[in-house]
Amino acid sequence: MVLKTVLGMSIAQHLEEVHQRIAKAAQDASRDAACVTLLAVSKTFPAADVRAAFDAGQRAFGENYVQEGIAKIAELADLRGGIEWHYIGPLQSNKTKVVAEQFDWVHSIDRLKIAERLSAQRPAGTRALNVCIQVNVSGEASKSGVEPAEAAALAHAVAALPGLRLRGLMAIPEPADTLDAQRVPHARLRDLLNTLRADGLDLDTLSMGMSADLEAAVLEGATMVRIGTAIFGARTYTT
Ligand SMILES: *Cc1c(COP(=O)(O)O)cnc(C)c1O
Repeated sequence: MVLKTVLGMSIAQHLEEVHQRIAKAAQDASRDAACVTLLAVSKTFPAADVRAAFDAGQRAFGENYVQEGIAKIAELADLRGGIEWHYIGPLQSNKTKVVAEQFDWVHSIDRLKIAERLSAQRPAGTRALNVCIQVNVSGEASKSGVEPAEAAALAHAVAALPGLRLRGLMAIPEPADTLDAQRVPHARLRDLLNTLRADGLDLDTLSMGMSADLEAAVLEGATMVRIGTAIFGARTYTT
């Protein structure tokens, strides 16, 4: 078998490099690196790349598009017991059913209607669907996510839904060039999580940090970083 290489390195080597980045940032923050889960974002990449990452020890994978994710889950059915599939993209109400049936996590809850549908459509006899509420911490009009001021009300409503288990918060901060600038929105999300916890919600997940701002996210308390490019290479979008 020919191993795919990205800039001359295999997916396994890229994974190793990302683990080292996490370890270094965790050390700088006096945190235990084991408290940061690596979510490999495989959107636009073929099932063969997911399999290569799985063979290198990676277990959690994130997808952004419903059709593509479902197709990949089916193609990798033999690994289903070992993989945790995370839906991290925008979710429309007419697509919630397959997501409720096929995924283990959804990070992109930004309105109650979607959460209610996922809860109702989660198959009986399966574990509750793990969810995070996506928060717009950068205030950009173009980015999805609930406004910080509305996060608490949504969180309490979602936490009450029987088919879901609210785990925490997720954000996609606006890109910034310096570490200090990157840390600001990540700190905002962490503070919001702490507020919700102080308010009685049992939350353990801060889903933040991508290839370009992983270090800032880990320094500010990320428990799950979502990394695509640094593992699988640059994406080419086809529509
Ligand atoms: C694509 C994507 C990522 C990964 O981004 P990279 O910059 O490639 O690491 C993480 N989170 C979400 C929600 C994404 O859409």
